[in-house]
Amino acid sequence: MSIKKLKYWGWGNTDEGLTNKESDLLLGTFAKKFGILPKNKVKVPKLDDIKLPTTQINLPKSLRSICKDDPLERVLHSFGQSQPDSIRIFAADFDHAPDVIAYPENEEDISAIFDWAGESKIAVIPYGGGSSVVGGVTPDVSDYYTGTIVIDLSKFNRVKEVDEVSRAALIQGGTRGPDLERQLKPHGLTLRHFPQSFEHSTLGGWIATRSGGHFATLYTHIDDLVENITTVAPSGSIISRRLPGSGAGPSPDSFIMGSEGSLGIITEAWVRLQGRPKYKSTAGFKFTNFFDAARAVRAVSQAGLYPSNLRIVDQTELLVNGAGDGTFSLMVVSFESSDHPVESWMHRAEECCLDNGGILDVDWRSNDQANMEGAVGAWRNAFIRMPYNREELTPRGIISDTFETAITWDKFEEFYYAIKEATSSAVKEATGKSGVVSCRFSHAYPDGPAPYFAFHGEAFKDGILEQWQIIKNVASEAIIKNGGTITHHHAIGRDHRKWYNRQRPKLFGEILNEAKNHLDPENIMNPGVIT
Ligand SMILES: Cc1cc2nc3c(=O)[nH]c(=O)nc-3n(C[C@H](O)[C@H](O)[C@H](O)COP(=O)(O)OP(=O)(O)OC[C@H]3O[C@@H](n4cnc5c(N)ncnc54)[C@H](O)[C@@H]3O)c2cc1C
Repeated sequence: MSIKKLKYWGWGNTDEGLTNKESDLLLGTFAKKFGILPKNKVKVPKLDDIKLPTTQINLPKSLRSICKDDPLERVLHSFGQSQPDSIRIFAADFDHAPDVIAYPENEEDISAIFDWAGESKIAVIPYGGGSSVVGGVTPDVSDYYTGTIVIDLSKFNRVKEVDEVSRAALIQGGTRGPDLERQLKPHGLTLRHFPQSFEHSTLGGWIATRSGGHFATLYTHIDDLVENITTVAPSGSIISRRLPGSGAGPSPDSFIMGSEGSLGIITEAWVRLQGRPKYKSTAGFKFTNFFDAARAVRAVSQAGLYPSNLRIVDQTELLVNGAGDGTFSLMVVSFESSDHPVESWMHRAEECCLDNGGILDVDWRSNDQANMEGAVGAWRNAFIRMPYNREELTPRGIISDTFETAITWDKFEEFYYAIKEATSSAVKEATGKSGVVSCRFSHAYPDGPAPYFAFHGEAFKDGILEQWQIIKNVASEAIIKNGGTITHHHAIGRDHRKWYNRQRPKLFGEILNEAKNHLDPENIMNPGVIT
């Protein structure tokens, strides 16, 4: 049996990535359709050539059996999956590599690490799957700290208990998506929380970042599936009561959800499950105008239909991904149920789309879920392979990143123009050349969509990180200025911190800091993130 090894320079395992054909297609599209030209490919830095900072820390004997500090471990835990992370990896810049990586096996181990880290001024970085795209696990901390320890939760990987009557399970925080679903399958139940990073992200990471899953309406965030949470903090544990709902004051779970490792470590949680879907239906609609597609999304989401998928993808994004010719936008709408047929909902959704100028692309009456054709199938295939694009683009000097937000419908059209215009101008200003900015909706609510933007540009050879930062600053400023949220589901991390501070009410920020001081008096937990 071959043992899979994770890459330290990109997404997934070392034996995975784009095929030559896929890479040629991607680079060809950028060159031919958008004039974005690849440079000679910079090689992945070899492990032996990576210079790691000398570690100054003195690990106590009692922790040595659960810790590792060999170069591969340090390199693997030096970055998440953000664009700046990728740029620094290909520049062989590992200046902020952690000193040591701990693999605790139980909550006592975690508390022992906290005690030592607090006494020694060591920053602690909780680590789930390391799929953060916002610098959440990048151990870039101030000089106040004498070192950094990453707490990798991969040994917290069990479904501990399944309550089939209430349809819920107690799952450890470090359990990755596929492991979690595999353990639930014999019970005929599923969490059905499928972020695009599902394969290499964990329940604890999802809760800590308030991740958004595949449900485009209703159960959009992991929040909606959480019954209770156990958190171990430096000053003690918080275990909320497991309940289907509660109106008893401010919610302890809401306080922990989105805390991004800054308050403590989520060791386990009870989550709500569902029956595995038996009835499914998907349709695709093409629109010549993106705003017509947006109006169709609004009509469907305000009709109280709650489809599992309700996404629109604009002309440009389809073109970039080889799923369109630049003349149409696409809507994908799906319903699913473990209990009842879903045709009547799909009928009504189809009416909403046709009323707003949609043209049927994939007909749900005849569709074969496994072999979806048309633009919907092409988009879905591209979406599955997308995580591998960056490791082909960064080393060729192509900046390629995404950001996401949410806005109420009354402001949407103006907002869309403002963000697209600001980001496009910033790409040109930063790189000296026009690039591409595209948009899709990742989630939709009756009162507004969650637009998800992508931008690509050909960077000058030197200073690619600075060029990315210019674009990021402008796009983030535009979001805050025009009333959006700095993130709908990607989280704050180190990259969004500046704008999060402006988005959150001042007094609320002060309260959060006070709470942090109580839970983490030595301020060791993921410094630079959230608080
Ligand atoms: C290709 C790709 C696709 C993605 N698609 C999506 C998507 O569809 N939806 C979405 O929401 N996000 C997506 N993301 C972002 C990322 O996967 C999510 O933020 C995810 O929730 C992170 O989970 P993780 O286990 O990898 O956490 P990590 O990246 O390891 O950590 C993220 C943050 O949570 C903290 N943390 C991790 N585990 C714990 C714990 N047990 N207790 C306390 N704090 C903890 C870390 O300190 C860090 O601040 C994507 C990322 C990639 C690379």
